[in-house]
Amino acid sequence: MPPKSFDCIVVGGGPAGSTVAYTLAGLGVNVAILECGDPSSPKVCGGGLQVKAASLLPFDVKEVVEREIYGMVFQRGLTDRFTRRSKAPISYMLNRARFDNLLLGHAVESGATLFAGERALSIEPAAGRTQKTRISTGGGDFEARVIVGADGANSLVGRSIHPDGIAQVQLGIICELKKRGDNAHIPEDLFMVDWGTVPGGYAWMFPKEKTLTVGAMVPRELTRTLNAYLKAYVEREGLSITDERLLVHPIPTRGEGEAIASAWGLLVGDAAGLTDPFTGEGLYYAIKSGQIAAAHVERLLAGSHNDGGLFDYEAEKDSGLMQEIIVAGKMRSFFNTFSRYIHNLYRRNDRLWYAFCEVLRGDRTLEGLRRVRTIPPKPILRYLERFTSWYEAREISRFDESKAFAHVVTEVYAARAGTGA
Ligand SMILES: Cc1cc2nc3c(=O)[nH]c(=O)nc-3n(C[C@H](O)[C@H](O)[C@H](O)COP(=O)(O)OP(=O)(O)OC[C@H]3O[C@@H](n4cnc5c(N)ncnc54)[C@H](O)[C@@H]3O)c2cc1C
Repeated sequence: MPPKSFDCIVVGGGPAGSTVAYTLAGLGVNVAILECGDPSSPKVCGGGLQVKAASLLPFDVKEVVEREIYGMVFQRGLTDRFTRRSKAPISYMLNRARFDNLLLGHAVESGATLFAGERALSIEPAAGRTQKTRISTGGGDFEARVIVGADGANSLVGRSIHPDGIAQVQLGIICELKKRGDNAHIPEDLFMVDWGTVPGGYAWMFPKEKTLTVGAMVPRELTRTLNAYLKAYVEREGLSITDERLLVHPIPTRGEGEAIASAWGLLVGDAAGLTDPFTGEGLYYAIKSGQIAAAHVERLLAGSHNDGGLFDYEAEKDSGLMQEIIVAGKMRSFFNTFSRYIHNLYRRNDRLWYAFCEVLRGDRTLEGLRRVRTIPPKPILRYLERFTSWYEAREISRFDESKAFAHVVTEVYAARAGTGA
């Protein structure tokens, strides 16, 4: 059978892929999506959609928003907590499966062809600029002038574009706890986070309509602590994980210079490693990179692209989104070096807290946080950036789980034994 032919094939129908397909179809491009997943299966995601991510979308997502978030409960080292609030929402809580289905539905409505249950198995890149790249799936062959890799953290398209893969990877874990008596005290309009416990990592509780999503993320080097950290965090809150499923997933972050484009294709979202290395959030980057990618693909297909072809997409990333990711990485190292100090800054310094809310709403960039007066001047900042990056790496290599939080679990069990609980 001859291959099914399109101008563009998007591999992966998550938020990044749906955004590319929606935008391209709206521009009149003949675009197909190959999506292998089961739409009803749970996604490994906290489900926090920053206000700035929602406002990128040209349609309303309110129907899948389960909670609006107006502030945060900060906790450091599983103790020392305080609450910060904001008048306007900083984030929305959603069910990822419903959100993904909504975006995919919009892509199809605007004219994209969806091949559901179709897994891309291999790619044969085009030999020349005018030829098409071939993709094989269990259901047959496809071909297109441009392939967009929106196939997530373990991207097949990514391996064809940069065989070495993305170097910096963190691991995240989530668990959906049913709403019940022992977690009724968790606020419905706040994020709860614990930081400064595991270097480079943090844990969170996000309220939903029927569940409470608890999760944690740590650098790859500390993978073995992931479960124990989540458990300690949950137990500290007086909750427990019983028979709920724990889901683990990588969070890749692109390093400077790592390839995300070739003559025949490009990568978006997690496949490109476009995630925040501090918070692990990727939905904003998935949507934004999808929109930027679509503009470049359309220009190439229309023959109006300059000589850079799809590589111009990479250049635009380097100067825009990547800058935010680089700043986020530096902020993470700062935090891990001076966690007590920064924790207290967020507690006491209104200007910093409100500036942070502005970042989440999209009224300020992360780079713009540097202009808040509590941040040191540039030459000192540069020195500190080198120092904090070294310090963070040292802390990660020296991390001792038994000192950090094993005692929390023991204390909680002792307290329960004392009360007969
Ligand atoms: C524990 C954890 C918690 C997180 N919490 C948040 C959060 O609260 N907020 C936030 O903003 N971000 C969060 N993230 C990150 C966020 O989930 C990702 O950045 C986001 O899902 C990226 O979207 P994507 O479309 O690039 O990739 P994905 O959502 O991974 O979508 C990829 C799609 O491609 C499909 N696919 C894969 N391979 C193939 C193939 N070969 N053929 C066909 N289809 C294929 C998959 O089925 C999938 O539907 C979290 C991540 C983790 C691990």
